[in-house]
Amino acid sequence: MFEYNSIEQYHAQLKNGVTSCKQAAEHYLQQIAAHQHLNAFVTVFTEEVKQQAQQLDAQRKAGRPMGKLHGVFIGIKDVISYQHHSLTAASKILQNFSAIYSATAVERLIEEEAIIIGSLNCDEFGMGSTNENSVYGRVKHAADESRVSGGSSGGSAVAIQTGCCMLALGSDTGGSVRQPADFCGVIGFKPSYGRISRYGLIAYASSFDQIGILGTDIADIALLLEVMAGADKYDSTASQKPLPAFTPAKSSTQKFRFAYFEEALSHPGLDPEIASAIKNKCQQLKAEGHEVQAVSFDLLDYVVPAYYVLTTAEASSNLARYDGVRYGYRSPIPENDLSDLYINSRSEGFGKEVKRRIMLGSFVLSAGYYDAYYTKAQKVRKLLKDNIRLIFNEFDFILLPTSPVTAFKAGEKMKDPIAMYLADIYTVLANLTGIPAISLPIFKHSNQLPFGLQVMSDKFNEVPLLEISKKLLAEQL
Ligand code: GLN
Repeated sequence: MFEYNSIEQYHAQLKNGVTSCKQAAEHYLQQIAAHQHLNAFVTVFTEEVKQQAQQLDAQRKAGRPMGKLHGVFIGIKDVISYQHHSLTAASKILQNFSAIYSATAVERLIEEEAIIIGSLNCDEFGMGSTNENSVYGRVKHAADESRVSGGSSGGSAVAIQTGCCMLALGSDTGGSVRQPADFCGVIGFKPSYGRISRYGLIAYASSFDQIGILGTDIADIALLLEVMAGADKYDSTASQKPLPAFTPAKSSTQKFRFAYFEEALSHPGLDPEIASAIKNKCQQLKAEGHEVQAVSFDLLDYVVPAYYVLTTAEASSNLARYDGVRYGYRSPIPENDLSDLYINSRSEGFGKEVKRRIMLGSFVLSAGYYDAYYTKAQKVRKLLKDNIRLIFNEFDFILLPTSPVTAFKAGEKMKDPIAMYLADIYTVLANLTGIPAISLPIFKHSNQLPFGLQVMSDKFNEVPLLEISKKLLAEQL
């Protein structure tokens, strides 16, 4: 039987012949079939996966050196382009669309011999926190099917939760990698804005979007980051900053300075059990000799409003390209003029939440309201960035919950979009300020559901963040 722990161990087993890529492929395809009812995958690339696995086995046996991700099975959220494979953003408006090129991130994975196993379900265009806004239907939480997977990268989280692939890519505009990871008990990591090229990632809110990684092993995640990171001539926002080497042993005895926000842990919306788990963690770190301090963060109540003003504004512009003319869905209703064609195609092609956001975004950008909403939210974003900079002058990491509650019941938040938005309170800060953040699956609630500890570091300090994450996870064992 095939068992997976980490890329390092898998590669050792491939080298000594204990397993093969073919065997691993069969295992994952079986797992996917066994969990099909959870609805995590949109498309599984079955035949190619088998072929690629056999080809890699043959190359390895012929003595060819292995790529860094040789035979690593990776699922990708259905907003990330993989050339000649369907790409729909879980939207009717992109039904039958195939990617005409691969995302830079995907190209880099493939260059290192990763195998892309399938595309994963999500909220339409990444808009949502439950994966219920998908044209393919909701993704079920594997531990309790009456609950949601979280979102918007719900398929990615459940694919990892159920062992259907080794790692998964998601996208994180306001928490979409970290929150489903928190709900499903896996690791969810969002790098700094600009660390990984967004070329080939379907745009939701371009100044927030970032490809993230879900998995079960920190060293795996560090390796994927290393492969995908770096400048890209197709994305001028991709940073040139070099990524230092991941050396977790280095930090094992080091003492760090952790900050937590008083306002975050005393927030009325926070489940008291989650609050006390985080407080206990802080105590434990203090007892180990780290500096752990409460800092006041009185801007916390502004993060969700600023996030939803700015992201809907950007979305209303980004989604203008789906017009029924150039590509994607076109309404069959006979039109009288061009604007009828636009209206019918967009009205039929977009789901309810996406329409709500396009309208909200158009409103906050409209002439009479621009200054009252959009400009004001930009000012809040600037204040947040300044504040975060000051905090990281004094601290190495910030500790926060990932979500104020454990996985919602299906349908629970659908009637009240504001309640759904407010639950993003702990994740959007990292996207508003561009810093990296990770959700670590270290807690279990008395309702038996997992939840995570969220850790943030200063911009482009992903490597120290991953190193401390490894330590925090190891302490749980
Ligand atoms: N829940 C947030 C939203 O709906 C996060 C989305 C995301 O990160 N893609 O906007």
